[in-house]
Amino acid sequence: MDLFEYQAKDLFAKHDVPVLAGEVIETPEAAREVTERLGGRAVVKAQVKTGGRGKAGGVKLASDPADAVEKAGQILGMDIKGHTVHKVMLAETADIQDEYYVSFLLDRTNRTFLAMASVEGGVEIEEVAATKPEALAKIPVDAIAGVTEEKAREIAEAAKFPAELIDQVANVLVKLWDVFVKEDALLVEVNPLVKTAEGKIIALDGKVSLDANADFRQPEHEALEDKAAANPLEAAAKAKGLNYVKLDGQVGIIGNGAGLVMSTLDVVAYAGEKHSNVKPANFLDIGGGASAEVMANGLEIILGDPDVKSVFVNVFGGITACDAVANGIVQALELLKSKGEDVTKPLVVRLDGNNAELGRKILTDAAHPLVQQVDTMDGAADKAAELAAK
Ligand code: GDP
Ligand code: MN
Repeated sequence: MDLFEYQAKDLFAKHDVPVLAGEVIETPEAAREVTERLGGRAVVKAQVKTGGRGKAGGVKLASDPADAVEKAGQILGMDIKGHTVHKVMLAETADIQDEYYVSFLLDRTNRTFLAMASVEGGVEIEEVAATKPEALAKIPVDAIAGVTEEKAREIAEAAKFPAELIDQVANVLVKLWDVFVKEDALLVEVNPLVKTAEGKIIALDGKVSLDANADFRQPEHEALEDKAAANPLEAAAKAKGLNYVKLDGQVGIIGNGAGLVMSTLDVVAYAGEKHSNVKPANFLDIGGGASAEVMANGLEIILGDPDVKSVFVNVFGGITACDAVANGIVQALELLKSKGEDVTKPLVVRLDGNNAELGRKILTDAAHPLVQQVDTMDGAADKAAELAAK
């Protein structure tokens, strides 16, 4: 999960990374009071989850409260790379003498963590990285050893920070590593890290991406979710503990096991080429224990997607045998009916693997008018695509 800058700043402050005070507002008029609180001047910054706000005109200095109202009015509603600005942060202004870059990230290719740092930070960092790679120091960080004072100095020296700043920068790096580890982040980036006129090092911008796999031990992270931006179907699925991703096609997909569901998406996309180019409408893995309730929850989400025209249930029975899945489908349809939810979309079911014969018989006997069975994955994908194209 990517965070807004103001959320990253809150995490920085929690771990003692030096930042400037700031407040978030959603209406221009609110800028007046906040700017007064901040001492009469403020930097007005668009809060969108994309970089390059500065270049896009999403970061502006306001010289007084009235000016802040005007600048907030200009920035709120602005479109930055496809992101509409709904919130702006007003922050204390910094008297910037120099702009640097530092980050920690997970380096998947090298199976380690990586520190990156440069004394040529600021809005042109991408350009620097592309044309002057030697100006961007890259130092692997061992997961167990972490970033000690000594390691932090090594990073700061590799980036050629001036000698008189090494102590301060190393100190900030240790704290940023604290953010990275204690908050279970995949990325912590500060650009710019600035030196102020008084010679102080401050994190002026922050980009943090949190590892959703660690949500179970980070109860406070739930509050950081941008509920307004979440897809309502994905939010509903998440609330039900389902592994669901909304896609933009018309064939709803339910399968057991991430690998099978992924290949089902491919097979449906391929079959769709012959049927008005219909495509998979979602990814949904109901996992190993496909109880009737899980099946009902999955079907409810998928049938509730107005884009869905047909549903393909693709199950390879293993520990959860096909008869259990078939009973789950039958009960799920009854459950939905008893909830008053009219099921009107056709379901194509392919059962294979453990107890497939028995599972198929259960569905045949139930004779639900909207359910039809196809024995092969390709055949079922073709049928589901054909029904969605109708
Ligand atoms: P980004 O473009 O989305 O990365 O947004 P940043 O927060 O990095 O801001 C872009 C640029 O605006 C920075 O590199 C600074 O040069 C400038 N900037 C941001 N905050 C301040 C501030 O408080 N004072 C001054 N003078 N400049 C600022
Ligand atoms: Mn920045």
